[in-house]
Order: sequence, then C-alpha cells, then structure tokens
Amino acid sequence: MFGQAGVQTVATVKDRGTFSCPRCRHWQRAEVMGVGIGVSTHLAGDGTARERARENASRDVRRTLRFATCPRCKHRSGHAAFVLPYVLASFAATAGAIVFAFVVARVKHGEDGAAAFQLYFPLAVAALTVVVTPASLLHRWRHNDARIRWLDF
Ligand SMILES: [Zn+2]
Repeated sequence: MFGQAGVQTVATVKDRGTFSCPRCRHWQRAEVMGVGIGVSTHLAGDGTARERARENASRDVRRTLRFATCPRCKHRSGHAAFVLPYVLASFAATAGAIVFAFVVARVKHGEDGAAAFQLYFPLAVAALTVVVTPASLLHRWRHNDARIRWLDF
C-alpha cells in the first residue's frame, strides 16, 4: 500500500442537460454520457479520486453537449473552440520541428546536408500532422455525438 503513488479512478456519469443551438435557436433536452478520470494522492484517499472523476465526468457532459450537432439544423455549435486546440497543436508541432531540424542540422550535418534536412524534416512532420489531426478530430466528433441521447420532452 505504501509504495502506491496515487489513486486513479474512472467515472461515467449519465446526466441530463439542455442543448441550445446558437444558429436556429432550437433547444432540446438530452441525456449525455460523460466520462471523467480522477487522480488523487494515496494520502488523500480513495474518495477524493472518485469525487474528482465524477466532477470531470459532469464537466464532460456539459462539454459534450456544447459541441453537439444540432438535431434540427445540423449546425455544430462551439465549432471554433473545438477545432482551435487541434489547429494550434498542429502549428506548434510544425514550428517545433522546424526549430529542431535547424538545430540538429547545424550540429550534426554541417553545411551540405543541412539544407536538405532543414527542408524535409519539417515537411514530414507537417504532413504527419495534417493526416493525424483531422483523423482524431473526426473520431472525437463521432464519439461526441454517440454519447448524446436526445429527449423528446
Ligand atoms: Zn440548429
């Protein structure tokens, strides 16, 4: 017991919330499945991790509902807020790769090999990012709507 650094718990919460579409003003009640992970130090005890997991799950319910596709006009609210972190991460990865390639090229390859490396390495990272980013975005979107059950009252 004493070697354990912390307690990690996963909680799923089924909660009801109201979705409102910023575009067509449609609103509807929905039941959403939220998933949260709670971590606490061993000293804080089991209950804290469970509590945090439940808190995160409730937050996930609200987030899921905010990014939901409108059942009436199919508009996805919170679009920019959803996409922005991925776009920023892509830019950061590409920028990081350029800097990294530049530094490595200087140190290891000397002047001749440097030019090619500086060009191809960031290109490879950018290409990878372009492929991976929409894939994970699509996955999250599908996953997002799959956890919403629209209620008809
Ligand atoms: Zn709508």
